[in-house]
Amino acid sequence: MKIGILALQGAFQEHKNILDSLNIDNCLVKTKEQLKDIDGIILPGGESTAMGKLLRDFDILEPLKEKIKNGFPVFGTCSGMILLAEKLSNSEVVHLGVMGIEVKRNAYGRQLGSFETLGDFKGIDKKVKMVFIRAPYVENIKEGVEILSVVNGNITAVREKNMLAVSFHPELTDDTSVHKYFLDIVKNFKK
Ligand code: GLN
Repeated sequence: MKIGILALQGAFQEHKNILDSLNIDNCLVKTKEQLKDIDGIILPGGESTAMGKLLRDFDILEPLKEKIKNGFPVFGTCSGMILLAEKLSNSEVVHLGVMGIEVKRNAYGRQLGSFETLGDFKGIDKKVKMVFIRAPYVENIKEGVEILSVVNGNITAVREKNMLAVSFHPELTDDTSVHKYFLDIVKNFKK
């Protein structure tokens, strides 16, 4: 199993460090050709407008979208969640638009822009460390989307088949449980 990490912008190195610590073969993805060699991809946090533009400029957006629609496992964190969403409640732009969620960008406003907490996550039997940085959250879900985590009444993690999206940054903690959850999705997809 080899996991790609989209490395156009944002916190990709931190995801790499986590996968390295778990001894999972991985590579940084900067071209569409590299999509062929991997079994799943992580879309990191960063700035979704910049990341969306780079995805288009490098012609990765369409091939990646097609792969995800055909069941390719994807894990979006923070900006990555925004890229996956079919609708953004406070922006006209849609990027990959593959996941049946409506997401609000910078949903916590300025005052609570960044915070850290321990939260429940369905399928992980311990509290998960969650770091939020100018984070989005999910405002609406379509049928078929499973809610995995709710923090302060807001949906912060969701899964729809091969797609996992969280509004926090698991890669900025020493807690590898959400990455392991994603790796299980990839293993089952390969069967
Ligand atoms: N606010 C950023 C955006 O809209 C996301 C922040 C993050 O990834 N930490 O893309």
